[in-house]
Amino acid sequence: MTADDVLGEPDGGFRVAMDTLNLFRPSVGAFAVGMAQAALDATLSHTARRDAFGGKLKDLQSVAHQVAEMALRTEAARLMVYAAATAYDAGAADVPRRSAMAKLLATETAQYVVDRAVQLHGARALQRGHLLEHLYREVRAPRIYEGASEVQRGIIAKESYKKLEDR
Ligand SMILES: Cc1cc2nc3c(=O)[nH]c(=O)nc-3n(C[C@H](O)[C@H](O)[C@H](O)COP(=O)(O)OP(=O)(O)OC[C@H]3O[C@@H](n4cnc5c(N)ncnc54)[C@H](O)[C@@H]3O)c2cc1C
Repeated sequence: MTADDVLGEPDGGFRVAMDTLNLFRPSVGAFAVGMAQAALDATLSHTARRDAFGGKLKDLQSVAHQVAEMALRTEAARLMVYAAATAYDAGAADVPRRSAMAKLLATETAQYVVDRAVQLHGARALQRGHLLEHLYREVRAPRIYEGASEVQRGIIAKESYKKLEDR
């Protein structure tokens, strides 16, 4: 191994790793939003067609309000991911904070929305091969990898206090 074999700056590997995470966290957020949207779409379609208790599920206020909450949270997560991606592309100073927020909100939102979708589909969502059976399994890991949710909260707090010190 010689100096010619060094990639990037000596002792700069940690910075490269952190910059990579700043890019990957909004990406994880983006596919979490995709999972949430797929679960929401399936729920809209199912509750509009399913007859129960003399009417469509969508006409029960408790169902409609849950669907509204799913749509609200999915849209909020999507906007947070867009904001982080825009900040990354612009080379903004607050990228670590925005990336952590986008990853945290989107992955926790996807977990919530997929869980609600399973509830509103009833037992059929638990059948092997059902879209929601797949989403319910796959939605769990993104809250752990690329930095667990606890790690994202740690970054958000650290970056927020840093802003205070910079004043
Ligand atoms: C599907 C999948 C794909 C993966 N792909 C990759 C990959 O491509 N490359 C790669 O390198 N790794 C990958 N991983 C590994 C992933 O990054 C780790 O699982 C993750 O970092 C958590 O590490 P751990 O599993 O060893 O759990 P631990 O480090 O033991 O953490 C367990 C739990 O402790 C808590 N915790 C841990 N650290 C802290 C902290 N600092 N502050 C507060 N709480 C904390 C969290 O709740 C965490 O979930 C993948 C994991 C999965 C599930």
